[in-house]
Amino acid sequence: MKMNGIDFETYFKNYPDEKGFYGNYGGAYISDELRKAMEEITESYFTICKSRRFISELRRIRKEFQGRPTPISYLERLSGTLGNVQLYVKREDLNHTGAHKLNHCMGEALLAKYMGKKKVIAETGAGQHGVALATAAAYFGLECDIYMGAVDIKKQAPNVARMKILGANVIEVTEGLATLKEAVDAAFAAYAREYKDSIYCIGSVVGPHPFPMMVRDFQSIVGIEAREQFVGMTGELPDAVVACVGGGSNSMGMFSGFLNDPVDIYGVEPLGRGTMLGDHAASLQYGTEGIMHGFNSIMLKDENGDPAPVYSVASGLDYPSSGPEHAFLRDSGRVKYDVVDDEAAVDAFFKLSRLEGIIPAIESSHAVAYAMQLAKKMGKGSILICLSGRGDKDMDYIIERYGIR
Ligand SMILES: *Cc1c(COP(=O)(O)O)cnc(C)c1O
Repeated sequence: MKMNGIDFETYFKNYPDEKGFYGNYGGAYISDELRKAMEEITESYFTICKSRRFISELRRIRKEFQGRPTPISYLERLSGTLGNVQLYVKREDLNHTGAHKLNHCMGEALLAKYMGKKKVIAETGAGQHGVALATAAAYFGLECDIYMGAVDIKKQAPNVARMKILGANVIEVTEGLATLKEAVDAAFAAYAREYKDSIYCIGSVVGPHPFPMMVRDFQSIVGIEAREQFVGMTGELPDAVVACVGGGSNSMGMFSGFLNDPVDIYGVEPLGRGTMLGDHAASLQYGTEGIMHGFNSIMLKDENGDPAPVYSVASGLDYPSSGPEHAFLRDSGRVKYDVVDDEAAVDAFFKLSRLEGIIPAIESSHAVAYAMQLAKKMGKGSILICLSGRGDKDMDYIIERYGIR
């Protein structure tokens, strides 16, 4: 498939380029010291990702430890309420630790082990990346420092407990709004101090090169499995694929399996409380080009041009930018990006629970809500949704704030 001069048949050979760019977006805007560290990671990754030993070890881990492949489920009862469109979900909620994030964490930690590093460092928002990385660190016997905003620590107590039980150090970040953005800053600063013995494991397809590429590659298992399973189940490709976009890793993993297919692809951003700056985290929808956290992408800026405060009911989606590849795919027209607000996401959270017996993460509920709207517009056909995680972590907060619906 070709679109606006981009050939999606050879896409993964050409994007990113050698310096980590997707068109104008991406790159590595970092200090010289960090640049050395990133070059070391890039070089190791390019060697290792071609090594048979690395590939077969990662394959074994995915099967025996993570429980992959995760299935696709047909949503018979929910589809029945939407007319003639059939909805399916890729069940990343059934991946070990309950979300897609373990897919890249096991890859990053295995890379750390091959590089001879002793420690992994990361930030976390909803706590899912922290739990996934703490799990990977325990599996490989690595030390683990997790930076987390004070506000998120309060909202996500069970995940904080999980990280501590798994042996990670959870380091509280109290600067600014004390959420994901500040945690990223703190983790970055720690890595600059400790990069000789440690590796920074970014939680999404964001940050300086090679992370957007590496995390996409590790997550592409989601799209590869999903495509094969969907065709096996139905005999054809889905008409549309939908995933929620925070930093953009579950969506990039899912989308990468379908970029060269005649399939409509939709990324869903959180509209939170509304369109005012500070009330949402829909960076691709309302943002402008800019550099933060070491990469060039589309971001939400305040009046000084700094990353703006953002909000969503979903802690895992409240980040003021998105991965550079999403910005590129948006401009190319290959992927369409749209928004879903808190209310619609909470509604979908209860609908999927009630009608299908699946309690989705509130992040994933954004994708479910969008697919429900899209189904009504399409009238017929099929939609494959990436159900990025399970909602156990969100239950207490949602009941407290919204009651049982
Ligand atoms: C972290 C998280 C997200 C958002 O991150 P992406 O990098 O955009 O995938 C979505 N869903 C769940 C369940 C998460 O934990």
